Amino acid sequence: MERHTITETLQRLRETFRTGRTVSFAWRRSQLLALRQFLLEQEAIIAEAVTLDFGKSAAETFLTETEFLRGEIESALRNLKRWMKPERVHVPLHYQFGRASVRREPFGVVLVIGAWNYPLNLSLVPLVSAVAAGNCVLVKPSELAFHTSKVIANGISRYMDNGALAVFEGGVEDTVLLLKERFDCVFFTGSQRAGREVMLAAARHLTPVILELGGKSPCIVHNDASLGVAARRIVWAKFLNAGQTCIAPDYLLVHRDAEEELLLLMQKAIVSFYGTNPELSPDYPRIISDTHFTRLEELLKDGLPVTGGDVHKESRYIAPAILRDVNPEAPIMQSEIFGPLLPVLTYTSLDEALAFVRKGNDPLAVYLFSASASVRHKVLDATRSGGFCTNDLLFQSAVHGLPFGGVGQSGFGRYHGRAGYEAFSYVRSILYRSVFPDPDIRYPPYAGKKFSL
Ligand code: NAD
Repeated sequence: MERHTITETLQRLRETFRTGRTVSFAWRRSQLLALRQFLLEQEAIIAEAVTLDFGKSAAETFLTETEFLRGEIESALRNLKRWMKPERVHVPLHYQFGRASVRREPFGVVLVIGAWNYPLNLSLVPLVSAVAAGNCVLVKPSELAFHTSKVIANGISRYMDNGALAVFEGGVEDTVLLLKERFDCVFFTGSQRAGREVMLAAARHLTPVILELGGKSPCIVHNDASLGVAARRIVWAKFLNAGQTCIAPDYLLVHRDAEEELLLLMQKAIVSFYGTNPELSPDYPRIISDTHFTRLEELLKDGLPVTGGDVHKESRYIAPAILRDVNPEAPIMQSEIFGPLLPVLTYTSLDEALAFVRKGNDPLAVYLFSASASVRHKVLDATRSGGFCTNDLLFQSAVHGLPFGGVGQSGFGRYHGRAGYEAFSYVRSILYRSVFPDPDIRYPPYAGKKFSL
């Protein structure tokens, strides 16, 4: 999009917002219904686009994208009236008579910048929240998921209100240009590096930002865990999307007594999910770009493969790899892996594992496999993260009522369900005062009037 087209599009969105039409319940509902229509009618086209982008199967797109997006739309449709209701606030006796409430109002024209790894959801779930909150929205899907970006652009222009909602397709340079414009809120999903740039650009306009970033989410497997289930669930969560999931378990911390058995069970799980040669499995995606492929190929050297690690440069294939003998100081343990490599570290006492987790930056998620409630409480209390899940992984992000987001370096701000509605609204504090009573004590002169606590 040229600079003048950006300006024109933003002018159009701003003018629409000024008319006030996006604030009405009827408009919000109609756009949510339109988005649902797009999703239902174009489901096959969407799945095909995601497959073209990085070889992800239609089944996985259903499980991790379309089904969740549909749920978010349904949840917004079901709850919108309630979310929009002003909330009454108590007025103390000495400020009577008056009626106080808070009302959530839309920011105005907001920008949503999506990442490529769940290319539909990361652009359209924030759109659901932003529309539910009554905003005009410019969506910038990731250029790396090129085909999905096209489907989103076509879908929004065909199904939705083009006066209020638009798509901007472009790469990093275009986005830098876009961020020179003033928005009323920027919602960003992506890397910490780009998040910093987005925040700097937004600061020039004093625009509030929500940053959904990444991090190294640990998964602790204690010696009392049900190892069969743990192995299957860890393998599923790690190698889904070929490890390119922001809340994937980044590394394992396994109790020394459980290590051998868990490793064997995980190898079995890989074979049962993807066969002996995962390259032939229709359910195993590819790495999104050459840059990421080269980065991951380099990280493979940081451990001894228990299984996997074969690579195929032309198709950007990396076999699901479990690595042991990993030095905690090695590059693979310094930043988010974001690919199908799973380093396994061991511990002998839970305190040792927790100290290790606490040494790192706060991640998006902390996972734990254990049968014990006291271990569960101990790990929950001793760590910090955007989300926490025991005896499973990823599902904390699938429950619409659980706010989703990071803490510290993994980002700030929450969305999904009501949290998303709130993220795209500002709180307006409203007080209706009665003209009666109007006592003299509040007005000067104060001499002779008694004030004390
Ligand atoms: P990325 O930061 O490279 O790109 C994300 C988006 O930002 C893209 O639309 C891109 O065009 C844009 N962008 C890139 N550089 C920019 C810049 N300098 N200025 C403005 N915009 C810029 O990230 P990615 O490779 O698409 O996604 C991977 C990262 O995203 C991982 O770190 C992952 O953990 C994180 N992620 C987080 C979540 C979450 O919900 N917290 C979800 C998915 C991915």
